[in-house]
Formats: sequence, structure tokens, C-alpha cells
Amino acid sequence: MIDLRSDTVTRPSAGMLEQMMKASVGDMVFGEDPQVNELERMSAEMFGMDGAIFCPSGTMTNQIAIKVHTRPGDEVICSRMAHIYLFEGGGVAFNSGASVALIDTEKGTFTAEDVKQHINNPDDPHKAFTRLVEVENTVNRGAGACWDFEQLKRIRDLCDYRHLGFHLDGARLFNAMAVDGRKPEEYGAIFDSISICLSKGLGAPVGSVLIGNREIIKQGVRIRKAFGGAMRQAGYIAAAGIYALRNNVARLADDHRNAASLADALKLSNFVEKVNYGGTNIVIFTLRPVITANEYLEKIRAKGILALKTGERSIRMVTHLDVSDEQVAEACKILASL
Ligand SMILES: *Cc1c(COP(=O)(O)O)cnc(C)c1O
Repeated sequence: MIDLRSDTVTRPSAGMLEQMMKASVGDMVFGEDPQVNELERMSAEMFGMDGAIFCPSGTMTNQIAIKVHTRPGDEVICSRMAHIYLFEGGGVAFNSGASVALIDTEKGTFTAEDVKQHINNPDDPHKAFTRLVEVENTVNRGAGACWDFEQLKRIRDLCDYRHLGFHLDGARLFNAMAVDGRKPEEYGAIFDSISICLSKGLGAPVGSVLIGNREIIKQGVRIRKAFGGAMRQAGYIAAAGIYALRNNVARLADDHRNAASLADALKLSNFVEKVNYGGTNIVIFTLRPVITANEYLEKIRAKGILALKTGERSIRMVTHLDVSDEQVAEACKILASL
């Protein structure tokens, strides 16, 4: 099967498994796991930030960040297609008692002006207290769209001026940096907190890291404990994360090239109405009214391709390190002929 459902379906490579098997481990809660300590140290150093905490999932790193930034009754400004809003089980309300102010955008990116229009008057007791701005790079539901870095800097300036926190859901930040050519420390310089996923395009089986300034990390350690994310001999999976950061970043451009090929092939298909491709590893397309998403998925499954339904007539395909160039070429041939 050519599995294009998600970049989370990857299995650890032989080299990664070897590092995991060789890992020396200790009790992470006692601060004694060498692999976790090293992963947290190298992540913080890479982004030029004070510290980092290793967590089981990107949902947890995002939710810890939101919890640290807000108090119950506060409001978070984000896009209507934000992962924290759509796909984290209502966690913003559930975990932090916060509400969201949603910005409508086509690709999930927005401007400092959009943010400004969603900041409530802090002196108006009718309104929730605006505390945090959250952005996602790349944008998952925006077909892997990347942010313009200059726009992020303008939002940073606005956050400074209005005393707002600024959090980056960087589940696929390394995909974005492969396109915009920015360095991790440039991102570290404009955000208060950054969440990265090791288990997406970087190919680790489990794990995310929350990176931030001293106070955020100090509070984050406490909240990670309360959320049940303080693991013990987590070094076996942290070792996979270290391997991922060292070996699997440079190859992300291959996934982008493959996704671009899929986008081109889909445009040739009679079933496909519109293809959205944000320039990284995600393609989202809508189908003509002649076929439903379920029918289309069945049709391609019979030919050896798996994809994900994102709506009654829309489908997502994601490239990753466990689909080869040959498999993508094969998938393109099949998809274009439909
Ligand atoms: C996958 C993802 C996350 C985190 O998801 P987990 O499955 O909890 O690791 C967060 N944000 C975005 C944009 C994602 O795609």
C-alpha cells in the first residue's frame, strides 16, 4: 500500500531503531534521563531559547503552552482552521478554560491587521481578556501553506505593543524552514513558545518538544506533570527524536518534490475539481460532484493508495519518508488516469 494518509504513519528506520536500542536511560522525572536531557538541550540551543520540555504529543505541547499563557476566561486569537481549535478535543476550553477568537482565512495565515481587529478592549468587562496569539507553520488544513516571515515579525511587534503572548504550533516547522530558508533561531527570536513534532515528517515514532523562555518552561514542567506527561525512562523515544533532528531534516525537500508531483497529477484527473498545494508535503483537493470522498477513497484503495477524507468532497494526501520516489511516481500515474 502507498500510504498517503499522514506523515504520522512512518515507522522507525533501522538506524533510528539502533539508536533507540543503544540508549542509556534514567528517570526523566528525576532529571536523570540522559537522552531526554540531551534532546531538550539541543532543541533549546537550536532555537536559541532558554529551555525545552519533551512530551508525548504535539497536542500536549500546544495545550501546555496555552495553559501557561492563559488564565480561565482569557481568549486566544487563532485561525478558524487551527489545529488547536479543530483537532485537539476542545482542549483550549477543556484544559485552560479559555475561549478562541477565530480569524477567517483561506490558507490559515493572516495579517497583523487581522489580529488587531480581534483584540478585545481590555477595559471592557463584557469582553474576554485577549491574552495569546497562536499561529501554525506549516498550516495543516491550509494544504501545508507556509507563513511569510515578515508577517510573523509584524504580529510579534503587535503582541509586544499589546502585551500578548505569541505561540507557534510548529508541528511541521521544519517543512516550513525547508521552504523559507529561515533558521530555527530566527523563529526562536520572535516567539515566546514553539511546539515541534518529531513524529510527523521527521519520522520518530513518538514525541514533541515545547521550547520557550525560562518562565514558560518552568511553568510548563509543572503543567506537563499535571497533564500526565512526565514520563520515566523516556530516553528510548527521546533517542529517536535526537536521531530524527540529526538525520531527517535535510531530506524534507524530497517530500515536497513528491507532493508537488502528486498535486500536478491530480490536476489531470477527471474527478478532481480543485487542487490546493501549499508548497510543502500536503495536498488537499476537492472532487467534482460526480463522486463522494468515500467512493473516491475506495476507488484508489483498490489500486493500492491510501488517503484521508477531510470533508464530504475533499481529500488530503501527505508525503513522508516512508513513501519512495518510485511509489509516488506509481501513485501519480494512477491518480492522473482516473
Ligand atoms: C499533528 C499536529 C499536531 C500534534 O498532533 P499530535 O498527534 O498530538 O502529536 C499539532 N499541530 C498540527 C498542525 C499538527 O498537524
